[in-house]
Amino acid sequence: MSKVTDHIAAAKGETIFSIEIIPPAKGSNSITELVKDIEPMMEFNPPFIDVTYHREEYIIKDMPDGGKKEVRTRKRPGTIGICSAIMHKFDVDPVPHVLCGGMTKEDTEDLLFDLDYLGIDNVMALRGDIAKPFNVFKAKKGGHQYASELITHIKDMNEGKYLYEEASFDSHPDFCIGGAAYPEKHYEAASFDIDFKFLKKKVDAGLDYIVTQMFFNNEKYISFVKKCRAEGINIPIIPGLKVLATKRQLEILPELFFCDMPADLRNAVQGAKDNKAAREIGVEWCINQCKELKNFGVPALHFYTMSKSNTTLAVAREIF
Ligand code: FAD
Repeated sequence: MSKVTDHIAAAKGETIFSIEIIPPAKGSNSITELVKDIEPMMEFNPPFIDVTYHREEYIIKDMPDGGKKEVRTRKRPGTIGICSAIMHKFDVDPVPHVLCGGMTKEDTEDLLFDLDYLGIDNVMALRGDIAKPFNVFKAKKGGHQYASELITHIKDMNEGKYLYEEASFDSHPDFCIGGAAYPEKHYEAASFDIDFKFLKKKVDAGLDYIVTQMFFNNEKYISFVKKCRAEGINIPIIPGLKVLATKRQLEILPELFFCDMPADLRNAVQGAKDNKAAREIGVEWCINQCKELKNFGVPALHFYTMSKSNTTLAVAREIF
């Protein structure tokens, strides 16, 4: 299969449609439903599909004997299986997200070999969210603390240098490596400049392309790209977009993703009579964002679909 950067090069300046999906929550939905949701989006020929990775969390469970026990669970397992299904069902390159969190370096290396043997050529290298119910990120003992360390590890594997072995023949992984960036700063960073310094570290470690956190104000993305170019970051910077679909998301999205809601969008959605009207405003807003970003020359428009295709489709129909 192909690398994300090859897809971008092959598009020769045309903007690509791409999507991110999340694995179904265990017990609530099936892979059949997920595939049904992806299917209509294939009309717009996404050359790659990102699949998020959800780490373990710790919950208190009622036990049959009446007691309570803390258990470790993963609510959305299946990232690798879904990637494999996407390749075979749609002949599209999957981009599994690979996290530092919850993994030792040995776990990471084993996972990356599985991906390589499956024929997967792209990975998104991330630190990962904080495991619930904690409020500080803590690497697993013997794991990577920051995405930059994970990127260095993958880059080493790309050169046949493993944790405890070296490739003795000319066949080793060759992943195209994506990473995250935050035009409005990562929430933990003390300042934009400090966060930017660490982004530069990730790029120097071997990132091939960047996908941004969602934003609703294009100015944030455009000034971020200009800053990157001025500071010598010349890899593709793909804007991540979310179509606002309910009134409640006005509050939830900034809380979860630390993105600014422009006053015009906020006022319009607050004035909407119901969620259907709010969704129409969200779609219209995103269409306008996409038109402007396309004119700016973005390599791809990457939609955080949360595995729901309807709003993404409504935007894509106007743009692609
Ligand atoms: P990093 O780049 O490691 O940065 C984390 C923080 O540490 C930042 O504040 C940074 O400034 C700081 N920092 C970096 N390096 C250093 C250093 N050397 N010393 C001190 N401070 C440093 N989460 C998931 O759990 N699963 C997913 O599938 C997932 N997909 C995502 C996809 C995209 C496109 C984006 C934008 C985010 C995604 N996330 C996902 C969320 C992401 O894991 C969180 O935002 C996480 O808090 C940070 O990840 P990162 O890779 O940006 O971390």
